[in-house]
Amino acid sequence: MVDDQLRARGIVDQRVLDAMERVPRELFVRGAERLRAYDDAALPIGHGQTISQPYMVARICEALSLCGRERVLDVGTGSGYQAAVLAELAGEVFTIERISKLAEQARLNLAAAGYDRVSIHEGDGTLGLPEQAPFHAIAVAAAAPGLPQQLYDQLKPRGRLAVPVGGRGGQRLELVIASSEGPAILRSVSCRFVPLVGEGGFPR
Ligand code: SAH
Repeated sequence: MVDDQLRARGIVDQRVLDAMERVPRELFVRGAERLRAYDDAALPIGHGQTISQPYMVARICEALSLCGRERVLDVGTGSGYQAAVLAELAGEVFTIERISKLAEQARLNLAAAGYDRVSIHEGDGTLGLPEQAPFHAIAVAAAAPGLPQQLYDQLKPRGRLAVPVGGRGGQRLELVIASSEGPAILRSVSCRFVPLVGEGGFPR
């Protein structure tokens, strides 16, 4: 997975490659999907949601430029996989999921994989986690129709937000950096994520 899907597609941050090598993706999917755990694809995790493609997890993590001490928010916990990779890369990880059954399963997955210091929350992640803000970095694993303003507002100065922005059918991964002149936005790869549903996302 690391050589064929990540290095071959230009992921160069060695800390990200090492983190992706350490986190056992098979512990974040269930049943028959375990046999496909290292496929180059998103996989179903129930409730109409998916665990992201490994390449997109790596792209998001690389865009955040983490060095180990950061406070990070992960929006759209899903299986908990991206939160586990972030836990390898940063100091403190908070994750938020709107579907409570998925949050419960993610708690089990993260514990089984040894990442029980990830703090799991339930609710509308488009509103961020004001009581834990500000964050050095925010990773959004679902597609937003535009820049979620409340997430941007919870970044520290020079903080980084990675978010897929576009329509339900396809998006571009955006890296948004907080600056005194407002958001500096870099657009990167095209992608296809499940919708971010909530106040700062798509309607229910
Ligand atoms: N990072 C996950 C990817 C899960 S897919 C993983 O590695 O497995 C995206 C997730 O975002 C879904 O579980 C979906 O329920 C969740 N989601 C969508 N809108 C949300 C919102 N407003 N707040 C929190 N989670 C949301």
